[in-house]
Amino acid sequence: MPLGEFELIRQFFDRGPARRALLGIGDDAALLAPVPAGSVIAVSTDMLIEGRHFFAGADPLRLGHKALAVNLSDLASMGAQPRAFTLALALPAVDEPWLAAFRQGLFALADRFDCELVGGDTTRGPLTISISIFGEVPAGAALRRDAAQPGDDVWVSGALGAAAWAVERRRQASGLGQSAVGDGDGDGDGTSGAHSAGGADCADLRLDCPEPRVALGLALRHLARAAIDVSDGLIADLGHILERSRVGAELRWPDVPQAAELAPLPEALRQRLALSGGDDYELLFTAAPENRIAVEALGRRLDLPLARIGAIAAGSGLAVLDARGRRLEIEHGGFDHFR
Ligand code: ADP
Ligand code: MG
Repeated sequence: MPLGEFELIRQFFDRGPARRALLGIGDDAALLAPVPAGSVIAVSTDMLIEGRHFFAGADPLRLGHKALAVNLSDLASMGAQPRAFTLALALPAVDEPWLAAFRQGLFALADRFDCELVGGDTTRGPLTISISIFGEVPAGAALRRDAAQPGDDVWVSGALGAAAWAVERRRQASGLGQSAVGDGDGDGDGTSGAHSAGGADCADLRLDCPEPRVALGLALRHLARAAIDVSDGLIADLGHILERSRVGAELRWPDVPQAAELAPLPEALRQRLALSGGDDYELLFTAAPENRIAVEALGRRLDLPLARIGAIAAGSGLAVLDARGRRLEIEHGGFDHFR
C-alpha cells in the first residue's frame, strides 16, 4: 500500500482542528456541543455502493458531491440545519488522484452548508461510501412524513425527470437499451467514466450533482406539515407520506413541473420520467391552504419554483388526473401499489 491508513486520513480528510465541533477527527470519537434547549438532533445515514448506486469508474468529484448531497437532502426534508457528518469509506486500493477529486467534491459542498466532517472510518473493501449526518431542528418543527392532513395542498420544488432522463440516455448510450426508469434505487452511471481528477465540475448534471434544498427545508419549518425528498420518484415518495399519514391524495399531471430536457419527449415517457423517475432530490411537501400565498412568496424569495400539484384527501390511495380530470393509467413501478 503506497499510503497507510492514517496517512490517508491525514492527507485527505483531516483539515486540522475542528471549527464547530468540540473535537473532530483524530480521537476515538468526536465531541459535539449539545443543541440549544428546545431543539433536537436529526440524524440520517445514506450509503452509496459501486455497482449498485453508481457504476465502476464514476467521476470521483461528483461522487464526493453526491454522497454528501443525498444526506443533506434528508436533513432538508426534515427542516433540519446541517451541523456535522462522518464518513465511512471502503476502498479497493489507495488511488490518490481519485481521493483528491473525491475530497474536493465532498468538501466543496460541505463548506457551502457549513457542515463539518468530524470523523469516520476507512478500510479496504469494495468501493462503498457511507455518510452519517447530524443536524439541528426545534422540537416539534421537524417536517415528518406522518403529518399530512386531508385538505393540505401538495407542493414540489424545482422540476422533475431530468435525473431519470440522464439515466435513460446513459443506458441507451452504453448499449444497455431501454430500462426501468425509477427503479427506486439510484442511477446506473455507465458512461461518465473518466477519472478527471482536476477538470470535472458539478455544474451540469442533475443526476450526478443534485442540489440539496436545505434553505427551502429550513424555511418550510413553519409553513409545511409533511415533507420528503424525491429520491425514489414523485409517486413512490408521495406514497410514503400517504402511508405514514394514513391519507390519500389527488395529483394533477398538468401541474407537475417537468424538467426542460423532457420537452421534446412523448407524453407517456415524460409521465414516466417525471412521476416515477428518481434521483431529483427536490422537496415534496404538504401545507395548509392558508399558507398558499406564503409558500408562493417563499419560492420567489429563494428563486426556486414551487408548484402546487395536488391535494391530500381523507381515506387512502393516490389518483393522478389528466387535464380533463380523468384518472391516468400509469403502468409503472410503485404506482400499482396505490391503485
Ligand atoms: P478507531 O481505531 O478508533 O476506529 P481510526 O483509526 O479508524 O480510529 O480513525 C482514526 C481517526 O480518524 C478517528 O478520529 C476517525 O474518526 C477518523 N477517520 C477515519 N476515517 C475517516 C474518514 N474517512 N473521514 C474522516 N475521518 C476519518
Ligand atoms: Mg476505525
